[in-house]
Amino acid sequence: MVMNYRFRRFRFNVRKYPFSAILSLKKLPGLILLALGVFAAQPLWAGAALPNWVQVQLFEAYPGIQAFQIQGRLQLTQPVQRTLKGDLFTLHQHGNQLELRQGKSTGVLLKSTRLSLKAAHAGSTLRLTPLTPPVVKGRQYSGLLTFQSGGGQLSVINRVAARDYVAVVISSETPPNWPQEALKAQAVLTQSRLARYQPGDLLGDSTQREAYLGDAYLKSKARRMVSEVWGQTLTYQKRPVTPYYHASCGGHTSGGEYLGGEGAATPWLSAIACHYCVLSPFTKPTVSVLSQNSFQKAFPGSFPMVTQRDGGGRPLRVRQGKNKKVISGYQFWIRMGQQLGWDKAPGTRLSLTRLADGKVQVSSTGAGHGVGLCQWGAAGMASQGKTYRDILKFYFPKAKLSEGNPF
Ligand SMILES: [Zn+2]
Repeated sequence: MVMNYRFRRFRFNVRKYPFSAILSLKKLPGLILLALGVFAAQPLWAGAALPNWVQVQLFEAYPGIQAFQIQGRLQLTQPVQRTLKGDLFTLHQHGNQLELRQGKSTGVLLKSTRLSLKAAHAGSTLRLTPLTPPVVKGRQYSGLLTFQSGGGQLSVINRVAARDYVAVVISSETPPNWPQEALKAQAVLTQSRLARYQPGDLLGDSTQREAYLGDAYLKSKARRMVSEVWGQTLTYQKRPVTPYYHASCGGHTSGGEYLGGEGAATPWLSAIACHYCVLSPFTKPTVSVLSQNSFQKAFPGSFPMVTQRDGGGRPLRVRQGKNKKVISGYQFWIRMGQQLGWDKAPGTRLSLTRLADGKVQVSSTGAGHGVGLCQWGAAGMASQGKTYRDILKFYFPKAKLSEGNPF
């Protein structure tokens, strides 16, 4: 039942849009180039083949990690080939050296600037838990894990089969018990992004693009769903499109112009009236009342005024600040989320009211930027018997589904 669907957490970050990626990555400048790298990718793209393997930078939203606990039987592949005894290890960065220790032992098993390892048994995973700082709970990974020290940073790269990557992404990006056809639609979107992947490219694991949270998130049916649509991508004028999606549109999606006035660069996107997400918890307006102080801190100067809305009901232009500067509605929403909390206006179909006591009331419907596929809508369509093809056609009527080689 759609009524039972719940999001584990809100995810409102924009996906796959260079301008928005810069905005939301303000505090993580190291990632900006990475994000832009995706878009610098090959305008000369000329084929729909998906990669067999991809590389993903893990914990990309937590650049300060200097030590990990590693759980599981592991096999070193670099700098030496060796299967290690035991199933609990720690890896610390000291200067530019990485030191691998067993359990709580003080003895160093190996020192190197670069270490690669994988689970000793095929089909097993290794659990990685950041120790210093303990920023996030442990996550499980299959494939090859390469730890590298350089410039005071400890980075972890996961080389993983592309199909497994897609299965983990669609599992990470959807709530439990998500309908199968909605999962397949998600898989096609992720594959459309992978169609631009070149050997050596580095993907990330955060919501700046798509979340890849490891095998503990893997849904039991995800691998089968990926197999059924493997190789299929959404294309426009024979090129794979950059996929956009969001949690819930609140009644109407928006075209690409909402994300920054560059609608011409995203002609495959359409503004769609969507009633399939009506059971989403974000259909009812989220109403927040903010104190005058906190609102003024985020938006000093004159009270923001929406001067233009798009066909989806989202503010396109907002005039605000000391100089009554006009910014895009999308920039406004990002700033509000970053400075006042994403729960204040989870959706972008928003309006502002100044109350008599000076407080500010923010009302919004939906969750996320509202462009592209509406995830709750896709689940609603699937629960009514629609297929992933129907779902993709509904949200991306201008794009085509390329046939791959599912097996
Ligand atoms: Zn919707």
